Amino acid sequence: MANTPYPQSYYAASANPVPPRPALQGEVETDVCIIGAGYTGLSSALFLLENGFKVSIVEAAKVGFGASGRNGGQIVNSYSRDIDVIERTVGPKQAQLLGQMAFEGGRIIRERVAKYDIQCDLKDGGVFAALTSKQMGHLESQKRLWERFGHNQLELMDQKRIREVVACDSYIGGMLDMSGGHIHPLNLALGEAAAVESLGGIIYEQTPAVRIERGANPVVHTPQGKVRAKFIIVAGNAYLGNLVPELAAKSMPCGTQVITTEPLGEELARTLLPQDYCVEDCNYLLDYYRLTSDKRLIFGGGVVYGARDPANIEAIIRPKMLKAFPQLKDVKIDYAWTGNFLLTLSRLPQVGRIGDNIYYSQGCSGHGVTYTHLAGKVLAEALRGQAERFDAFAGLPHYPFPGGQMLRVPFSAIGAWYYSLRDRLGF
Ligand SMILES: Cc1cc2nc3c(=O)[nH]c(=O)nc-3n(C[C@H](O)[C@H](O)[C@H](O)COP(=O)(O)OP(=O)(O)OC[C@H]3O[C@@H](n4cnc5c(N)ncnc54)[C@H](O)[C@@H]3O)c2cc1C
Repeated sequence: MANTPYPQSYYAASANPVPPRPALQGEVETDVCIIGAGYTGLSSALFLLENGFKVSIVEAAKVGFGASGRNGGQIVNSYSRDIDVIERTVGPKQAQLLGQMAFEGGRIIRERVAKYDIQCDLKDGGVFAALTSKQMGHLESQKRLWERFGHNQLELMDQKRIREVVACDSYIGGMLDMSGGHIHPLNLALGEAAAVESLGGIIYEQTPAVRIERGANPVVHTPQGKVRAKFIIVAGNAYLGNLVPELAAKSMPCGTQVITTEPLGEELARTLLPQDYCVEDCNYLLDYYRLTSDKRLIFGGGVVYGARDPANIEAIIRPKMLKAFPQLKDVKIDYAWTGNFLLTLSRLPQVGRIGDNIYYSQGCSGHGVTYTHLAGKVLAEALRGQAERFDAFAGLPHYPFPGGQMLRVPFSAIGAWYYSLRDRLGF
């Protein structure tokens, strides 16, 4: 049977030790079978277990193999499209409910880390950096918008102030969110998996779901076994493939790449990011970066539509890093990897139910560390019969990509080129 390892990332190299987890052999029965052990699956499992459900997770590779174990580690609040866009799309009542939830994911992460004593280098403080006055104007209205929903740990920064928190001369200002922050993403997933097991949940690794038998008593088929369950949660996100064809039509896997420098040493690291905040800029195709606990710089950016793996990641990302920090020109890159996130046309999450008992949440389009933790809670509530918050997400409209499966990649790349050109020209 296939044994899919982690990609050769900094995170895999610095992962906390974990017990071996067997593949599923034979037939088992449970209340909820979850497909995928990323944050969506693990967060759902934890909320369900805490509420008395029996849970089994089948994971095609290893816990945190997907985006959850490869991401920039940035705890970013709200959604990939903000609450004002949601308001224009679905009206004030539903937007009010979604707005109230927009800052919950970050709180869930902090609660989990504290409750289960998860060692994942959690740090507070995230910066949104503006490169143009238009972006600064957007941050000003974002602050007003977020404050309307009770989120008030925010500080607007002018050019002088942002220079105190990040040694990059390109920014004209920014916004600091002290309830943002950063984590070692794989160690967060591994800690959550250990918490799942401590509550009696079972995780089968190297166990892809190859078919879902739908009906009143659904069954998840795997290469050497099957899971009979009352409910199924599909949490495979960008790595799901075509297991659930109706989901694939309205979403597109995209790759984004990350590099990690050699350790910079305390002094150099402190000159780049003196308070150890994480940073993302406000471009459509954004750059994001932060320090690790051993004082390396992790830098990510760029999007490959259709999720083809680029041949030379360092050649794509290093120039972006040097544009932000020319002082790193002699620094060696120790790790480079790619990971897939799932894009929807609206850039809002795709949430819903198929029949009575198959639930899904996916497609948070790049900003998913906080949303996926919230999604687990909202899915668990729905399975317990409290579906008001689930329905607010499920009511978000979704559309197939223009050009269908054949042309969605070039069409989206043209769209992204247009938006990045607007960013570069500052309008
Ligand atoms: C490189 C990168 C950087 C990012 N940086 C950030 C960031 O800094 N901040 C932020 O907020 N968001 C970021 N994101 C997005 C964020 O990581 C994701 O939104 C989030 O982790 C998605 O979690 P998930 O559990 O839904 O999916 P995943 O973590 O991708 O998990 C899905 C899991 O399902 C498994 N699976 C798939 N199909 C099957 C099957 N048939 N059977 C069994 N298992 C299956 C996969 O193996 C995988 O482990 C980034 C994403 C990437 C790729």
